[in-house]
Formats: sequence, C-alpha cells, structure tokens
Amino acid sequence: MDELAAVAEGVASTNSRLEKIRYVAEYLRALSDEDLPRALRFLSGRPFAPGDPRRLAVGHVSLREAVIEASGWDPETVRLCIREVGDIGEAIGLLMHGKTENKPLSLAEAERLYAELARARRAEQKENLLRECFSSYRPLTLKYFVKVITGDLRIGLQEKMLEEAVAEAAGTSPARVRQAIHRTGDLAETALAARRGQLEQISPHLFRPVDFMLARPIASAAEVPDPAGWLVEDKYDGIRAQAHVADGRAALFSRGFAEVTAAFPELVAALERLPGSAILDGEIVAWREGRVLPFSALQQRLARKEVPLFLPLETPVAFIAYDLLLRDGRDLLDEPIEARRAELERLLATGGEPLLIAPQFTATSQEDLNRLFDEARARGNEGLVLKRRGSRYEAGRRGGAWLKWKQPLATLDVVITAAEQGHGKRATVLSDYTFAVRAGDRFVNVGKAYSGLTDEEIRELTERLRELAVARAGPVLLVRPEIVLEVAFNGVQKSARHESGFALRFPRIVRWRRDKRPDQIDDLDRVREIYEKQALASQR
Ligand code: AMP
Repeated sequence: MDELAAVAEGVASTNSRLEKIRYVAEYLRALSDEDLPRALRFLSGRPFAPGDPRRLAVGHVSLREAVIEASGWDPETVRLCIREVGDIGEAIGLLMHGKTENKPLSLAEAERLYAELARARRAEQKENLLRECFSSYRPLTLKYFVKVITGDLRIGLQEKMLEEAVAEAAGTSPARVRQAIHRTGDLAETALAARRGQLEQISPHLFRPVDFMLARPIASAAEVPDPAGWLVEDKYDGIRAQAHVADGRAALFSRGFAEVTAAFPELVAALERLPGSAILDGEIVAWREGRVLPFSALQQRLARKEVPLFLPLETPVAFIAYDLLLRDGRDLLDEPIEARRAELERLLATGGEPLLIAPQFTATSQEDLNRLFDEARARGNEGLVLKRRGSRYEAGRRGGAWLKWKQPLATLDVVITAAEQGHGKRATVLSDYTFAVRAGDRFVNVGKAYSGLTDEEIRELTERLRELAVARAGPVLLVRPEIVLEVAFNGVQKSARHESGFALRFPRIVRWRRDKRPDQIDDLDRVREIYEKQALASQR
C-alpha cells in the first residue's frame, strides 16, 4: 500500500495521460500475482471485487472521530482541516503527520483491514479499528487507504487509463483487454489473464453482468444486400435485460448494469424455476393478451423500486429471451448464433409466459425484409433486428453483426366518447371503447379499441362509464368525455366513417391515464401530423 500511495502521488502530479499510464504500468508489472488484483481494485477506488456484496459502510463521522482520537487534535481543528482540504483522505494524511508509528502496510494487510471494517457491525467497532490504523501507518499511505474507503482516488486516473496500463504492463493491446473486460466486468481478473497470455480463455461470471452486444442502425432494407445471410427478429420496445440464473437464484440486470431484480418479481420467480445455470440476454416488455405493449406501459413499473409479489400488478410483463451467453458453466460467447439459439430453445422448451423466446424469421429478398418489417409493426413492435448468421456474441460491441431497423411507435392520449359491451366473458361489461381527440373545444372520434386493460380495470371503467352515460344508441352507450386513455397504433389512415376524417390502424390501449384531464389530451393537428409524416415516409 505504501508503494501504491507513492505511485498514486506520481499519477496525480502529472497532467500527461501517457505518463500516468506509464507510471501505473511500471508499478503493475512488478507486482506478484496475488498483489496485482488488489492494486487494481484499490486504484479504481474499490476495496472489493465488483459483484462482491460486502460493503464498508464507513461514514465521514466515523473517519473524523477516529482521526480526532488518533491524532490528539481538537475536534474544531480537525473539522476545519477537513473542510479546507476538501478531501477527507488527504486531510487525514496531513493531520496524522508526525503522529504515527510509520509502520509499513502491505496490500494484503490493507485488504484484510477492509474486510474487517466490512465485518464490524457497530460504528464504535469501526472507529476503534480506524483509530488503530491511523496511529500505525505512514501518513501518505493513510491518505490513499482512506480514499479507497470513500471510493474515489481523485488522481485523474480513469478506468480506461487503468485498462491501458494493464495492456501495457502485459505487452498486449488495449482493445484485447477491453474485450475481455466486457466479458467479465472485472479488471483485476483480466489483468491476471493478460499477464499469463490467457485473455482468450476468459469467461463470463454468473451474477456479474456481461456487456451487452449492440446493434448498428439501418434505415431501410436497401442497406442489406444479402438478406439470406441474416436471421431476423422483431425489435421489441422494452428494457434490455440480462437474466442470471443458478440453482434457484435469479437476478436481472439492465443496461448500465443496474440491477432491476426487485422491480420484476414475477419474472424472477419464473427464472428461478429454470434448471441449472445460465445467462440469458433479452428484453423485458409489458405484455398483455399475447401482445407487447409500448414502452410507456413499463414506466409505471420502473418507477417503483420494489414490487411486492402479492400485489396485483398493474402492468403484466414478460421476458423475451433472444440469446444465451452461458449454460451450466459453458461459455457460449464464441459459439455461432445458431448454436446459442438451439441451447436457448432447449432451456426454455418447457417454459411459457412470462418467459418467452423471440421468434426468428428468415428472408431471401429485400421484399421479404419489408414484409417482415410491416408484420413486426402490426404486432406492435418497433421494427426488426437482423443478426448475421454464424456470428459470435460480441460483448460491448456495435460491430455490425447485429443491425437494428426501427420506427418509433407513436401513442396518443385520447378520451372515451362511447362504450359497448364485449363478447364472451366480456359480455357483461363495457369493454369496447370509441375514443376521440380534441378539435378546438370539441372532441372528434379517431378509433375504437377493445384490448389492453385488465379485467379489474374494465370492471371499474364499466361503473364509471355508466355514471357518465348521456344517451344510448342501440348497444352503444354515449358518455361524457372524461376518461383519458393512452393508445398505441400502427399508423393513421383517412376514414369517411369518423367525423375527424382519420382512423388509427390497429389501436390498442396502453393504459388508463387517471392523471390526465380531457383538456390535456392530443388534438386533431397531431393526428394529421402523424398521417403526413407517415405518408412522406412511405414515399421514400
Ligand atoms: P436501440 O435501443 O434503438 O439502440 O436498439 C438496440 C436495442 O434493441 C437493444 O439494446 C435491445 O434492447 C433492443 N432489442 C429489441 N429487440 C431485440 C432483439 N430481438 N434482439 C436484440 N436486441 C433487441
């Protein structure tokens, strides 16, 4: 730790990126295999490996109390010094000057101390331990020992520079190091493998997210000269998510590696029932009656930190899996897409909602691709994702082996103007709704929808609509325009049937907008605008 502190000082003292990298690379090269991971963790401001659940839980107050006791300075001076210096690690180094035993501190011993701090339950135990440390070790070492506790070294050494230093120390390219990190999410483990010339053998770990493979955008089928060379899937409008599963435990990570496990208890419960271990890549979507709902329907769920399993869930969801990265300890990243897909199908063979597999299609011509695109849109999806036959899973890369072709799905806020009874189990409730947009101070109808709400919502709406009834025309109940819905659709067409002159194609209800009043809904100009944009797009 003493040497690490000296190197960190050197890094802080220069503005040159290259020089910083050289300092660190030289230091790393001389370290033993045991010390290399420790040094890299500490240099990235982490006491433990990523994914390690231990937390230090040491606050500023504990650090301050410990340094007051260890240094003998009065509390006021200590407080002032910390405020003036602006960094508690640096302040502690200064305050302990001439007041420590100047004992050496190894990286292994520092690691042991962090583990002990994490284990200590009460603040008092933590403060005792810190006080002992502060009295024992060199001031410069303490400065960095504390900076690791606060989580940031503040020496202008970004993660990317550390990666380059690892590459330089091992005599390999930064690109190869980065690729390995995409797979494991762990710099320290990658550094060891790089040193041993084993970067290629590095595999993903369960419960530590792998970087997602990304898709390159295209604007039309014309950009795909060889349609037969691709596997085609719908492009779902949801949350990209990685599911990690092992022996009855499951976790969900979204992009940026945020863990979203707690927001989707019903998915986790289903994932936990899968046999063996696996890492799946896919999309969490709002899902009702066999169809995907637009993204806005998911936002309600994300807004909640934790969703108790016993609550009726307002937005049902599904996980649509489209790739498999690890299966029973076997790394599949370098397997061709067809093999990964076959394993995925075997894994989910006995599944069903809410765990689904993205259907895959093939094309032999650009006309086929255009047809598939239209069909995907008719299913309420954004467009297509094309995946090159024979391709590997390129973690963290937008290398062109996946292509995305999309048009954002529009939604409109509308008001219900009339309602009818449905059929079958919905024959006793008002489940078919005619809806309108604003046109000046009037409302003009633009469509009719009968899917998308839960039975509970339909029951509640039926009651509300009966109260709002103003007239009856055969089976149709005309109502005062008060209930606002958000509807999704696949396009707008001219229509002689509605007074507005337009009708939405394939409208579906996304949600009941209880938060909106009828004067806040979309207007006819917006509908016209969507129609014109779409007409322009189809001429291209
Ligand atoms: P974008 O969000 O526009 O950058 O498009 C890339 C995203 O498409 C990915 O990150 C996924 O979240 C999403 N996506 C939707 N459907 C698929 C699919 N079938 N295969 C791969 N990615 C998909």
